[in-house]
Amino acid sequence: MPSSPIPMMDSQRRGVQVARSAVTTMPLRLLILGGTTEASALARLLAGDPRVDPILSLAGRTATPAPQPIKTRSGGFGGIDGLVRYLRDEKIDAVIDATHPYADQMSAHAVSACAATGLPLTSIVRGAWRQVAGDRWQDVPDTDAAARALGPAPRRVFLSLGRQELHAFGAAPQHHYIARVIEAPAHADLPPDLKVIQARGPFDLAAETRLLSDEKIEVMVSKNAGGPATYAKIEAARALGLPVIMIARPHKPAGHVIATAEEATAWLHDEASRRGV
Ligand code: NAP
Repeated sequence: MPSSPIPMMDSQRRGVQVARSAVTTMPLRLLILGGTTEASALARLLAGDPRVDPILSLAGRTATPAPQPIKTRSGGFGGIDGLVRYLRDEKIDAVIDATHPYADQMSAHAVSACAATGLPLTSIVRGAWRQVAGDRWQDVPDTDAAARALGPAPRRVFLSLGRQELHAFGAAPQHHYIARVIEAPAHADLPPDLKVIQARGPFDLAAETRLLSDEKIEVMVSKNAGGPATYAKIEAARALGLPVIMIARPHKPAGHVIATAEEATAWLHDEASRRGV
């Protein structure tokens, strides 16, 4: 029996409703640019969240990164164009930049790629450490300036930097360096008098004070990473009256700025609600 036009319209309407509800219950596809404690905290908060389908991107600098409770990918995207391609291919809905305060290039690429694709971008920006009474900081613009600031007389120097930054101190070979890094640096271009300690934070005040005392450190070189995970070395330097050569933060382009993984989760849930997820 031929069906009348009215039931046909009803069934079409139902079809539209089914299609719509299928689309609106799709979780938000999220790219997290990581490599930080905040990115790992966000991954823990989002694991099992039915409204968000996250992937954590790591630069691939460490051979054995800490295990994560969500999907991960590793390695550069291939500049802004590569990131734009990735966002489109993976049908990403939103991006959270949770990279380190000194990872300025990745952040600049995220801003450009999100502008090109029209995707919402939120950036977790960790507050910088501030000097307090007893701190003896000398601010310098970069690692080359830090090497110069050590001066001509040989000193015992604690380098709390990434392994890629150690080569700058080859320009000041008169000093004895102790560098703490997650993975061993390549031997090319390193300062000649260098002891490498491999360790992954967080570190506590007692251990940091012991390390600086045992190694008879006279001056520390540090980035202003902010956050609690690596602050104990700054407290230890203060307690021991040691000067700290502090490398300034770079200009880091950002989207909508927040400070914590919890705020990022709230932003994501707002974004998901806005889209009917
Ligand atoms: P960067 O100078 O801003 O980035 C250099 C290039 O590395 C980027 O253009 C990108 O390559 C790739 N990259 C960086 N972060 C990435 C990520 N999360 N996923 C995929 N590719 C990424 O960064 P960086 O200072 O070398 O830092 C690298 C990573 O280590 C970052 O994820 C950062 O959060 C973490 N980290 C850095 C520091 C630091 O002091 N800089 C400290 C602790 C942790 P393409 O252009 O090919 O996409």
